[in-house]
Amino acid sequence: MKWQEYQDAVSELYSQLDSIGTVSRNIRIPDKTTGQLRQVDTWVELKFGDHICNVLIDAKKYQEKLDIKDIEEVLALSNAVRANKAIIVTPIGWTKPAEIKASFELCDLRILTIEEALDLLVPDKWEMCPHCNNDCIVMDQSGFIEKQGLIVWWLAGQCRECRTAKVHCQDCGGIYYINIDQQVSCNCDHLWTCTNDGIYSDLYTCGREIKSIDDTDQLKLDL
Ligand SMILES: [Zn+2]
Ligand SMILES: [Zn+2]
Repeated sequence: MKWQEYQDAVSELYSQLDSIGTVSRNIRIPDKTTGQLRQVDTWVELKFGDHICNVLIDAKKYQEKLDIKDIEEVLALSNAVRANKAIIVTPIGWTKPAEIKASFELCDLRILTIEEALDLLVPDKWEMCPHCNNDCIVMDQSGFIEKQGLIVWWLAGQCRECRTAKVHCQDCGGIYYINIDQQVSCNCDHLWTCTNDGIYSDLYTCGREIKSIDDTDQLKLDL
């Protein structure tokens, strides 16, 4: 999952605040001292009566825990753009000194895991990819074929990031994870190949290569 997408997921998470204020994403606000435009991930303007409270929400998609330096960096930005409150969202967590610093400055720290972020963004998410653990497998290459009067069908899809494939052959019940450029032969003799462009299944009985449900439809017409 790319940082930009993580940022989108964080904005989505806070979009519910739209009912009590205005949520802006990816905007530039002038620095109160220099006038230079500063990049802000998510900016929420809460209104109550004549009053306005500005909340800066910063997404930090780090592989490691937030440290005190990360908190200081966000607080400096928050101060520069005159936010009344800062919230930092991260997938992993934070160190104890970071937590103390944040709580002293009334800055909230929140965890949104990569999986939760993908749940917010990817409607056909199948599961987290066990290979890269940084994105999800999307089930979009399932299909079926008629073989000797029987329907053979499968569920299949690939990781959005590393392209690792997951195939669930309904004929034999086998579930396989296939790394890119590798092949797996399932118990009912279908050969499954994972490529960057998609998953290929070579069904021995008809000797034809099929890729997606569209190709399967074409194949059925040919038969
Ligand atoms: Zn992956
Ligand atoms: Zn099988």
